[in-house]
Amino acid sequence: MYDDEGNEYLDFLAGAGTLNYGHNHPAFKTLLLDYINSDGITHGLDMHTKAKREFLEAFNEKILKPRELSYVVQFTGPTGSNAVEAALKLARNVTGRENIIAFTNGFHGVSLGSLAATGNSHHRGAAGVSLNGTSRMPFDGYLGEDVDTTAYLDKVLSDSSSGIDLPAAVIVETVQGEGGINAASFEWLRNLEAVCKKHEVLLIVDDIQAGCGRTGTYFSFEEAGIKPDIVTMSKSLGGYGLPFAVVLFSPEIDQWKPGEHNGTFRGNNFAFVTAKAAIDHFWSDNHFSQEIKRKGEYIAMRLNAIVEKNGEGNFTTRGRGMFQGINCVDGELAGKITRRAFQNGLIIETSGADDQVIKFLCPLIISDVNLKKGIDIVEEAISYVCAKEEAMPEENDYFDDVHIDSE
Ligand SMILES: *Cc1c(COP(=O)(O)O)cnc(C)c1O
Repeated sequence: MYDDEGNEYLDFLAGAGTLNYGHNHPAFKTLLLDYINSDGITHGLDMHTKAKREFLEAFNEKILKPRELSYVVQFTGPTGSNAVEAALKLARNVTGRENIIAFTNGFHGVSLGSLAATGNSHHRGAAGVSLNGTSRMPFDGYLGEDVDTTAYLDKVLSDSSSGIDLPAAVIVETVQGEGGINAASFEWLRNLEAVCKKHEVLLIVDDIQAGCGRTGTYFSFEEAGIKPDIVTMSKSLGGYGLPFAVVLFSPEIDQWKPGEHNGTFRGNNFAFVTAKAAIDHFWSDNHFSQEIKRKGEYIAMRLNAIVEKNGEGNFTTRGRGMFQGINCVDGELAGKITRRAFQNGLIIETSGADDQVIKFLCPLIISDVNLKKGIDIVEEAISYVCAKEEAMPEENDYFDDVHIDSE
């Protein structure tokens, strides 16, 4: 990216996982321009269009079928939060139960239904009303490495006096993005699925950020070998940064009445065109997935080396595939590091309860050269900030030459 003075930046934020295929991918842009030039339908409510059919065909043939998934595809309003709303409503309507189990540090959007499932107190505090209908459970690792928190979930669901109402569904991110890149182990995810089955509770995987290849496979839950009843997707689904969201679910629970979860912008035709292009271009075979895993290994190797160099204990690594981070424990420290990186031409953000995790979310298509360059910039920034902190620990304003409007 270039700013209006021509300065060059690498983007390791990538729309918080919306630009997995980079900014303005030329192949998608050409198809989008062709579609507009040929007077393809721009807005058609949720009606049938050629662009919609072609997206659905590509999604079915290249994504669902090879993975032996037979989901119904529902187009919701174009935000991730709206897809989560639809998923929660469906689960509640199907089971006739109200409660939803959500996890510590989970993030599912900021409209009221999904906000009730979100953990972050900053976002919850903006609601202005009580956030009802959810119970919070500890995510994988929350109580330490040795505690399998699904055993606790099983226990409270087995005990009619636990005080936790039998839920309609459990909603989970396989890797928590906004919550600080907390990766659930595959074993924990399998145990979670087993607990859900045992108690006849629906399993919702919120794959809005972890999906579309971020962790190494198209769906983040594939390698765990689980089959969620409901999956939400958005962010990189449209491929080009265009608003687009869907809910996928098993045909047996398709109990919507027509138009029950309606919305004016269900089905963004421009996004159908670029979403299909992304599937055709990157997901027709295994090559892309292998590339993500290869780059993911490089990232892990580099981040581990950086952590080792700067004293383990102060910093730790986390994540999976190209969804990794460095936990700086201290949010202020993490902020100084990302500011230093920005001075040197790298856009990179933090996440976690105290913004303490530096979040490496570069486009999946990044070249090896630029990947190395971006990580080099963070490595330098950590050394720079650690040296400054040692030399003048009370000094906060050694950045007075930059002014950034933060989020
Ligand atoms: C971003 C995100 C959402 C919300 O999506 P919006 O488009 O911002 O409403 C929900 N769940 C997860 C996991 C996300 O990362």
